[in-house]
Amino acid sequence: MNQPQAVPQTDRVDHFFSFPGARNDRWRGLHVAARDWSRGSGSAATVKGLFEGLVAYEGFFAYPGRQLLATLRQRIDSGQAAGAAGLAQRISEAIVTRSYKSDAGDWQSVETLAETPPDLNTPTLARGQGHRPYFEMLVVAPGAARRGESVIEQIRRLRRGEDAFIYEPVPVGSFEEAICAAILNPALAAVTIYEGFDHESAADLPVLRDFLASAGLDAASIAGDDLPLSLADALKRVRPELDIYLLSDRHVERIAGDVRAANIRRVLYAVEELLELHLCVLEGVADRYRTPFFDNLKAYARRPISTFHALPIARGKSVFKSDWIRDMGEFYGLNIFLAESSATTGGLDSLLEPTGNIKLAQEMAARAFGADHVFFVTNGTSTSNKMVHQALVAPGDIVLLDRNCHKSHHYGLVLAGGQPLYIDAFPMTEYSMYGAVPLSSIKKALLDLKAEGRLDRAKMVDLTNCTFDGHIYNTRRVMEECLAIKPDLIFLWDEAWFGFARWSPFLRPRTAMGAAEAIEKWMKDPASVQAYEAQQKELGKNPSAAKLLETRLIPDPSQIRLRVYQTNSTHKSMSALRQGSMLLVRDVDFGQVEAQFHEAVFTHASTSPNQQLIASLDIARRQMELEGYGLVANAIEIALDIRKEVNAHPVISKYFRVLSASEMIPDEYRQTGFVDFLEPGTDWEDQVRSMHEDEFCLDPTRMTLVCGTAGFDGTQFKKLMADDYDIQFNKTSRNSVLLQSNINNTRSDVANLIRVLLEISRKIEADLAKGGENGHAAFAARIKSLMQDVPDLPNFSHFHDAFRWDAGKTTPEGDMRSAFYSAYYADGCEYLPLNSPEVDQRLKSGPEMISANFVIPYPPGFPIMVPGQVISPETIDFMRKLDVKEIHGFERTKGLKLIRPDHAKNHIRK
Ligand SMILES: *Cc1c(COP(=O)(O)O)cnc(C)c1O
Repeated sequence: MNQPQAVPQTDRVDHFFSFPGARNDRWRGLHVAARDWSRGSGSAATVKGLFEGLVAYEGFFAYPGRQLLATLRQRIDSGQAAGAAGLAQRISEAIVTRSYKSDAGDWQSVETLAETPPDLNTPTLARGQGHRPYFEMLVVAPGAARRGESVIEQIRRLRRGEDAFIYEPVPVGSFEEAICAAILNPALAAVTIYEGFDHESAADLPVLRDFLASAGLDAASIAGDDLPLSLADALKRVRPELDIYLLSDRHVERIAGDVRAANIRRVLYAVEELLELHLCVLEGVADRYRTPFFDNLKAYARRPISTFHALPIARGKSVFKSDWIRDMGEFYGLNIFLAESSATTGGLDSLLEPTGNIKLAQEMAARAFGADHVFFVTNGTSTSNKMVHQALVAPGDIVLLDRNCHKSHHYGLVLAGGQPLYIDAFPMTEYSMYGAVPLSSIKKALLDLKAEGRLDRAKMVDLTNCTFDGHIYNTRRVMEECLAIKPDLIFLWDEAWFGFARWSPFLRPRTAMGAAEAIEKWMKDPASVQAYEAQQKELGKNPSAAKLLETRLIPDPSQIRLRVYQTNSTHKSMSALRQGSMLLVRDVDFGQVEAQFHEAVFTHASTSPNQQLIASLDIARRQMELEGYGLVANAIEIALDIRKEVNAHPVISKYFRVLSASEMIPDEYRQTGFVDFLEPGTDWEDQVRSMHEDEFCLDPTRMTLVCGTAGFDGTQFKKLMADDYDIQFNKTSRNSVLLQSNINNTRSDVANLIRVLLEISRKIEADLAKGGENGHAAFAARIKSLMQDVPDLPNFSHFHDAFRWDAGKTTPEGDMRSAFYSAYYADGCEYLPLNSPEVDQRLKSGPEMISANFVIPYPPGFPIMVPGQVISPETIDFMRKLDVKEIHGFERTKGLKLIRPDHAKNHIRK
């Protein structure tokens, strides 16, 4: 078992996030040591030590299994260096290449292989059946240490040639070990719980115990409780996708009476045939494996179909017979043409009004993502966001939103006629970027609306989680405190980048759906009413706004109407084709707005949605339900590797660094004092506590790499990396680039990145050495310009009075839609060149300059002007200093497009 005391604290956090690679490393380490030993340069003691360290974890995995480990131990103990090295190498390679999933030979030690060739049917994995997907099943049973081998044998004997999948059991004997296995073993897809197991493991597990205690899952907290149901509950918190089976001698009705029984897919009487269990387990995995739309699309493509409707490309005849575009067919392959169709019959269903396979696929996605309903969207999250705005916001409704959010929200409000009430995020001026919106600012805006008597107009809070640069909201706290002020407020969380977070137990509570689930649970708990009432008593009658601002508000559980929406660009973090997006709904009042959503779909969705996009959404869901946990863990591990390698490298770290959580998030928003993932002295409990309590935390997979200190501005560095090294980055700022790891990255990508950064760093050093004193001075000046002479970021100023005819006296909302359409009347608009003296004149003595449109520079990518906004000196200053070429909504030759103040009122439609 895990022996965390022996592990340095820095490794513990690392380990907690980084288990997949750590296991490979341990095996590789053992292999190398054993090889050295066999060549006479190493020692038996080293090999033995590594083996003992490694074997502590291996009980959580099916492979290599007890027999191979026993053989290896025996070889080490009896001094057979060559035999130990050979076996360690084979196991290590099988684990790294995952060949054991399909190769029966991997499961045999050489000797047994010689004696008994692998049985191709049972019980070992059969060669040639490699295409059957492989998974592992956790078996929690009393006395597993003793009985483990017979449990494994029993279950293996159930295997049949016609099974669609193949699995291996992993027996453990306690609650604690079961949780460890669920965290460490990404191959698990099912769990079978026998009654009568213990809570505590015999092994020493202080770190896990701390973790369980902080989650209320330690032995003391669940003493006397129903241990199997508590375990099922805990396992679902770690891995909601796992199917859990309970083998019990009790009456099923007694178990069914507990709310937690919902976590159990099936209760079987222990005396029932094990075969029943086997069939249930396979069916459970098949249920996730099924992709109703994609499966049918494949069947459709196989049928001989003549088409007499639009879409000549379908079936590919016009392509493959062509002299001129045949390469298109050769490049894409035949299937894409066979799978193209404009039909909505033949099981293909209609995305606009799904009743068949698409409906089913959406329901399965809802289950997977923890939503009540899901809409598949084939025009990106840009469209998903506009659909939410249209469906929920009526003209005049107020929407509180981050001015720096994606443009689809701003345009969505123009279309819907909602009034934006912009709230500023905290600035990170040094890096020319914004963070996220502090909760105190959101509460203040709501309380101001309340003071104006306009709270009923506030319809929705709309925030980006996580932000482009990785700031994650405390979604639960934000919603709770806002609901304490207005219990029926709607939340739209734009999780364009963050869809994958569902598959990490550490990030999930901070997703919209994760938080909504927690709030629903909380609402049902009688203690919540008490907490609410106690706080009301303490606050007294009519508490001041100041008092409400400083109090962590508890909403009234009996009043809350929980209405949560999340949009995600499935294509940005999962295996969907570009533009594949999902709109997730968890809204108790959805029944009242469902018809509006259908209107929004009709408004925005193409009537010719692409079949491949829909299929890829279906497939992305399948993948995440079956291997998302391991893939996301891997993406996080890779990010931590990059952070560590860059920041600790003696040469690279002189010129580059990845910003820590403490550099990305000001102290006041990190209440637990968490500094960074890799900060010495930080253990995983600190990490969990920060994720749980801090106002903002940082998504480890989004890395801001500072390149200004190497003398590059962001755009320049991004171009250099793309042109010269084929490494693509995400966005840039003045002095940084954003790197992102995802489920597609491997450790080789890390190695390549580090190699390239080292090469660039060495080149800088060589150039500096050649350039002498002048070179040094020029380099220092360049760095100063990039890192210190940074323009202040312009906050949102205010809407012009003409567009505040329907606004509160003190609250900043505005009629942006009227301003937007004012720009359609040429006689009401004027242009002023950015650098003209008239601009300065007007800033000084008026009349005010009113922006006629959105002006969005890339980077930073947020609108520094919106229609109807009064242009401030800060905005002009920022524009003038801006050294980027791409500015949407600004034509350099014509200048700023303004609404003439004397015309501003002309086109308002009340
Ligand atoms: C990319 C993005 C969008 C738009 O999503 P698409 O799928 O590209 O249309 C919306 N919001 C945020 C925060 C984004 O990053």
